[in-house]
Order: sequence, then C-alpha cells, then structure tokens
Amino acid sequence: MVIMKPVILVIEDEAAIRTLLKFSLLAEHFEPILYEDVKPAFEYLKTNSPQLILLDWMLPSMSGIEFIQKLKQQAKTKHIPIIMLTAKAEEINKIKGLETGADDYITKPFSPRELITRIKTVLRRGILISPDNLIILGELNIDLNKQRVTVKQQVITLTPNSFKLLKFLVTHPHRVYSREELLNQVWGYHKENNERSVDAEIKRLRKALGSASKLIQTVRNSGYQFNLQGTFGEHPTAS
Ligand code: CA
Repeated sequence: MVIMKPVILVIEDEAAIRTLLKFSLLAEHFEPILYEDVKPAFEYLKTNSPQLILLDWMLPSMSGIEFIQKLKQQAKTKHIPIIMLTAKAEEINKIKGLETGADDYITKPFSPRELITRIKTVLRRGILISPDNLIILGELNIDLNKQRVTVKQQVITLTPNSFKLLKFLVTHPHRVYSREELLNQVWGYHKENNERSVDAEIKRLRKALGSASKLIQTVRNSGYQFNLQGTFGEHPTAS
C-alpha cells in the first residue's frame, strides 16, 4: 500500500541549505522536490501540484516576489501555499512577500524543527492532516493509514479506485481538475480508462459519501474540484 506523501517544492540556490531542507523534509515523511532556480520549478508546476512551496528569497534569475506574482496569476498555481526563506537582513521583503501572497516566512538560519512546524501549520489551513495521517473535514474523516473513511461517524465502504480519487481530491483542494488530469494523476495512464470512467468513478464516490458529497463540485465544461467551503467557495473563472 502506498501512502501519498505531501509534496514540498523547494526552490533554493544554496546547495548546503537545499541539502538541509531535503533531509529535514524526508525525516518528516514529506516528499521534497528540489530546484536551484525558478525555471525548472515553473516547468515542474506545469504538470504537478505540490502541497506547498518553500521559496528562497534571492534566486539567480528572479526575486521571490516576482515568482509569487507569477504563481498567483495562474489558476493552477494560485492556491499553492508558499513559505518564504529569507535572510535576516531582508526584513522588508517579509512584509512585501506576505502582501504578495506568501503564507508565512522563515528566517535563515532556521532549525529544522521550526521549519517543519511552520510547514504543518500552513498545510493545516488547507487540509487538516494530523501527524498520524488523519484528515478531518467536518463530518468527513479520512484515515490515510488505514484507508478508512467515515461520514458522520459511519464507516463508508469505498472501492480502491474511489479511495484513490477521494484522497487525491481532498489533498488537492480548491483547484479544478479536468477528467484527463484526474485520469493521469489518480490512476496513471491505462488504455482501458477514458474520461467517462472518471465520471463514473465520481458518481460512485459521491453516492458513497452521501451528505459529504457536496464537497466535490462539478465545474461545467472543466472538470471537478474539491472545495473545503462546500458550496460557498470560489467560483472558477473557466467555464
Ligand atoms: Ca539565495
């Protein structure tokens, strides 16, 4: 059984700090993806949605502010939480960064423990993953370790595919995924699967979830999204 680890995209040009970040994240069961500049990070973000970005402030080709601005302009990346890594002398950047849309910042040098605490705090604002891999979203609870799902304390039975789909949607909230993206990201490519199988799987999942099914929204002509605010979330611009 594979438990999906939260993916943290790290953009840091100093090799020593990158290494420290890598091992600190691995030790806490995160999956770090490390780049030393923004260009490969942009490429990565075209096809991937990490749970969080750790962003160094001074990078070779672009400042952290410019990078955040670019991410906030795109529907695919604007919801990804960002924690800035700043040097002590860059106090003013912290304020600018938070204004631009960073969720938090951490000052170098930092302790790995402080870093992990900040990451978990920011992640909890989106989805609530407890240290023992429990996600609690109101009436919907998901135990990722046991693959056990309850709605209003009642255990619901999900097929392995439904569970995979639910886990993916819950851990990637507030973003519309097309049927094709869901096929690729949840099941990987299989010849026998097509976009209709996604609809069928969503239907099955919704039926199983009962009252919690409102968290999964159909976005007309676009796909599906998991919305933590239920029906009161943001309206996607695509139609
Ligand atoms: Ca730097």
